[in-house]
Amino acid sequence: MPLRLTLANLSKSFDGTEVLHDISFDEDVRALAIIGPSGGGKSTLLRIIGGLEAPTCGTVSVDGRPIGTDEKSLRAYRATLGFVFQDSGLFHHMSALENVALPLRVVHEATPAAAEERARELLERLGLAEAAAKRPAQLSGGQKQRVAIARALAARPRLLLLDEPTSALDPEFTTEVLDVVRDLAEEGTRFIIVTHEMGFARRACDHVAFLSGGRLAEYGPSERIFEHPETPELQRLLSRLL
Ligand code: ADP
Ligand code: MG
Repeated sequence: MPLRLTLANLSKSFDGTEVLHDISFDEDVRALAIIGPSGGGKSTLLRIIGGLEAPTCGTVSVDGRPIGTDEKSLRAYRATLGFVFQDSGLFHHMSALENVALPLRVVHEATPAAAEERARELLERLGLAEAAAKRPAQLSGGQKQRVAIARALAARPRLLLLDEPTSALDPEFTTEVLDVVRDLAEEGTRFIIVTHEMGFARRACDHVAFLSGGRLAEYGPSERIFEHPETPELQRLLSRLL
C-alpha cells in the first residue's frame, strides 16, 4: 500500500525567527532524500514530518488525514514510524539484541519471546548476527548504526526517517550503512533520509527535495534534480562535488 505524504504550507519559527517557509509537497513516498546546506532546515522538517516537532503553521497529512496536534494522536502516529539519527542512541548497558527488542516490549507490548525472535531476525537480515550479544562499546560505528536501523524497523514501521545516519561515521562505514538502507528500500521499506551523500541520493532515492534557507527550493525525481538542477544554489552545490 502506498503512503501519501502531504505537507500543506508548513512554516516553523523559533523565537520569532522563521526557519521553514511555506513548504508544500504531496507525494507517494518511496525513497526520498532531503539535501541542502547546513542550517537550511532539513532536520526541523524531518522532525515535523515525524511528529516530533509542531509546525508554527500548516499541516502534515498521511493518506489524506492530518496527523493531529494532541499528544495522544501524535504518539499513535510516531509509533507507525521508525527513526534513525546521527547518533545511534543505543543503550550502553544493553546488548544489541536487547536494544532492538526493548521498544517492541515497551512501546508495542510484544511478549519477551516474540520481541527477541523479531530482534534476532532483524539483526540477521542486517548482517549483525555476530553482534547480537555485544554491547554498543564493542561495536564499530557502522555496526551501531545498523543496530539503530534494526531497532527502528522492529515494529514494521510504515516509513523510516533517517537524519544524517552516516555523518558521524568514518567513510569506510558510510557505505555499509547506506547499502543496508538501499537493500531495505529494494525490499519495499519506504524511507526519507537527510543526507550529504549525493551519490546515495542519486542512485538509491527516487525523489530529492533540496532545502535551502528554509525553502523547498527544488523538488523532483532524483534524475532530474541531479542532471538538470534549476536553481543557482543547487547548481553551485552540485558543481562543488564534481
Ligand atoms: P539543518 O538540519 O538543515 O542543518 P536545522 O533544521 O537543524 O537545519 O536548523 C535550521 C535552523 O533552525 C538553524 O538556523 C537552527 O539554528 C535553527 N534551529 C533548529 N532547531 C532549533 C531549536 N530547537 N531552537 C532554536 N533554533 C533552532
Ligand atoms: Mg540537520
